[in-house]
Formats: sequence, structure tokens, C-alpha cells
Amino acid sequence: MNSKETQVFSSITCCPMCEKEDVITERQLEKFEYGSGEKPALLSIYIPVNVCKSCGYEFVDEKADEIRHDAICNHLNLLTSSKIQEIRMRLGGSQKSFAEFSHLGVASVQRWEKRQVLQSESNDIYLRLLEFPENVKRLERWNAGLAMEENTSKSHEFQGKGLDANGVSAHIRASQTFSLKRKVG
Ligand SMILES: [Zn+2]
Repeated sequence: MNSKETQVFSSITCCPMCEKEDVITERQLEKFEYGSGEKPALLSIYIPVNVCKSCGYEFVDEKADEIRHDAICNHLNLLTSSKIQEIRMRLGGSQKSFAEFSHLGVASVQRWEKRQVLQSESNDIYLRLLEFPENVKRLERWNAGLAMEENTSKSHEFQGKGLDANGVSAHIRASQTFSLKRKVG
């Protein structure tokens, strides 16, 4: 994928070649092709490259992989992994509880956040919709077995007369029945 041959090390304490602790980090421009076919896209990024001042050996760590992955996400107009994580954290959940709440697979959420797999366009749009509090409320209602949305235009008709003994308005009960019927059918 990347034109430059590089090795990846997880932590930089000393040069992996000569083992001297004389390593500096430089910002270097990297261009790489992404995509197949006749016209792959040429993406340009700046990555941190570790350079050994003693022997001249150059190597990158996982930060460069993160930057490459983010560049691909931006090129494809997909949310970056850190953005997906941010959306999940804003909803206040672990990966498992977020997966349960959103009906997404927990393994998928983990792979997206670890930059192992790119989310599909439809899942990307779904994740973007979860950035809107009103959609989160709709999903909460759906998960509670209610319709996605209260019909606010009709709610005035029921005001004051539509509440049953439990304080549930008639139209909510009606929509609940509707959603149950829909799930069976
Ligand atoms: Zn060295």
C-alpha cells in the first residue's frame, strides 16, 4: 500500500538496528496510492518517522498507520476510527453496551475502532445519525418497544382525555401495538 518500505515498532526506546539511544522523530511527507483499477487515488500525508542519528536507520511506529488509515477514511468520506469511538463514548457506553443499544455487532465496532476494518457506507451513515440527540431518543424508544417517534401533530387531540390508569396516552398504546404487530409480521 505505501511506497516506502518501513518496519513498524510499537515503542521507541532505542534504534532497532544499532541499539543506540540516539533516535529523533521527524515529520515526513509520504505519498501512497489507494484503490485498485486504472486510477488509484494518490494520498499525501505527513507521518512521524523515527531516525537514528547514529546509523541513519529510519522506522515508523503505529502512529503512522493511524494517520494512513485516517487519510483513507477521509478519502472515502467515512468516519475515522477515533470519530466512531467519540460517538460511542458520547453515548456513554462500553463497546458491548453500545453494540446492544445500536444493534450493531460488537465485533464490528471493535474492528472499526481498532482500524482493522472499514465500516460500510450504510453503517457509516447510521453512525452519523447517532450523533443527533433526537435520533438517539428515537432509538431509545424503539429499544423500549415503542414506535420510533411520537406523533406530535396528533398529540394535542389526546391531551387531557387520552391517559389511561398508568398515565400512558392512548396514542402511545396504539403505536406500541403497531410496533408489536410489525415485529410479528
Ligand atoms: Zn541506529
